[in-house]
Amino acid sequence: MDTKVLSGGKMKKQRKNNISHEFEKLDESVDDFEPASCSSSLSQTSAYPKRWLILVDIQEDFCAGGHLAATNSVYRKGSKEARNNPWEEVKILLKNYGEHFERTIVTQDYHPKNHISFASTHGREPYSTVYLYYPDNKSWKPDGVVKAMPKLFDTETLASKAKRKNKNRGTIVKQVLWPDHCVQGSGGENFVNGFKEYVEKEELNVYQKGKNLFLDSYSGVWGASHLEVSDLYPVVNEARDDPPEEVIVVGIALDYCCSFTAEDLAIELPNSRIVVIPEATRFVAETFDEAVKDLNFRQKGRKNQVEFVPMNKFLDKLDTEGFVF
Ligand SMILES: [Zn+2]
Repeated sequence: MDTKVLSGGKMKKQRKNNISHEFEKLDESVDDFEPASCSSSLSQTSAYPKRWLILVDIQEDFCAGGHLAATNSVYRKGSKEARNNPWEEVKILLKNYGEHFERTIVTQDYHPKNHISFASTHGREPYSTVYLYYPDNKSWKPDGVVKAMPKLFDTETLASKAKRKNKNRGTIVKQVLWPDHCVQGSGGENFVNGFKEYVEKEELNVYQKGKNLFLDSYSGVWGASHLEVSDLYPVVNEARDDPPEEVIVVGIALDYCCSFTAEDLAIELPNSRIVVIPEATRFVAETFDEAVKDLNFRQKGRKNQVEFVPMNKFLDKLDTEGFVF
């Protein structure tokens, strides 16, 4: 996969050619924006804050008909907005507001067959929870990468007992066992129609996760329990000295991969504002409150917390950003 970084300027030029009729009105309102006090004879300089857009796992298997569909949303059930995936909302951000994002980053869940997170790998029921014990020794993680299958326990108590036996070394990971999903080469790992073509055409960066057979990775930045880094980590690490002002996280599923990616970004980039736009996500849980419950619990008391900003409010803010004259 090409790892070219797109500039906002390129996206601005291209969005005019691609825009669908549905979003034409929004598009015009952005282009027409002109601060009341300025004169057109003065030269313009982009005044957008340094902002990233992270598009999490917008893949076939997470949509209706996929192996692990996460299609609930903040919209009323049956309404036209309650579509099977958030591509329509993401399209507005990319095509109408592309120039507001300095970087657009795409993550992809990309598992080998018999992945540790699959119920079928262990002969278990999908959606059951187990506890994985990763012992801490050199043969297990010789160069910072997990290279052996951890021990699986049905309860946390049993996993803790095994850990105590090993002088309290190692890590216990609570793991939901999922139906097989996003298996490399299965088709389910593909991006959804429309988005797929966009990623290819724009040569957007794609950062894969969950590639290690022995470790799951909800976050694009870190694997489970930060046992090893995922593909996006070097990008985040490089940005520490000059971090983005704002990082916008959208995609699927809000309760898992979006939440963990956003949380890791909030931890790694403590001076960046990390924002999730609920309308541009879909989730496994029945309701939005349920979907964000675990994230809110985990980040209680932390200084830099993930924020949730409604789409309209966010777009209103972008509309007020313009040019310095
Ligand atoms: Zn997965």
